[in-house]
Amino acid sequence: MKTIKVNIVTPDGPVYDSEVNMIIANTVTGEIGVLPGHIPMVAPLEMGAIRLKKDGQTDIVAVSGGFLEIRPDQVSILAQAAEVSQDIDLIRAKEAVKRAEERLNLTKKDDVDFKRAELALKRAMNRINVYEGNI
Ligand code: ATP
Repeated sequence: MKTIKVNIVTPDGPVYDSEVNMIIANTVTGEIGVLPGHIPMVAPLEMGAIRLKKDGQTDIVAVSGGFLEIRPDQVSILAQAAEVSQDIDLIRAKEAVKRAEERLNLTKKDDVDFKRAELALKRAMNRINVYEGNI
């Protein structure tokens, strides 16, 4: 089976680097499945999960958004934060949910802190979903 190289990089460094058979990602315009030889393109990503299929196995990486760059032999993903499912700290994510929910109850909807808390809640829920395989 043909493979394509995938790199997932964040400001903290590389998170994933492997040869895979297929990549499934959620772009802002919908889900995309990338196979080796895909036409070149760039797309913004939704917060969510990247699924990487290789030899009948699937690796899952949580991303907080970012960009996908496709070339025929390589896919690069640049994200502010990304974690391979096995590296997600579930307790930390649950604590982040609690903190965000408390802030949402304390601040008004048009407040900057409300928006920040909403995003923090989304990031934490995404991590929990990826950790638990609910994607
Ligand atoms: P927290 O409030 O727990 O720090 P956060 O959503 O504010 O969560 P980010 O700013 O998105 O965190 O990420 C900061 C760094 O911490 C990134 O490198 C990210 O990959 C990592 N990170 C955040 N939450 C987790 C988690 N639950 N498990 C593993 N790594 C995490």
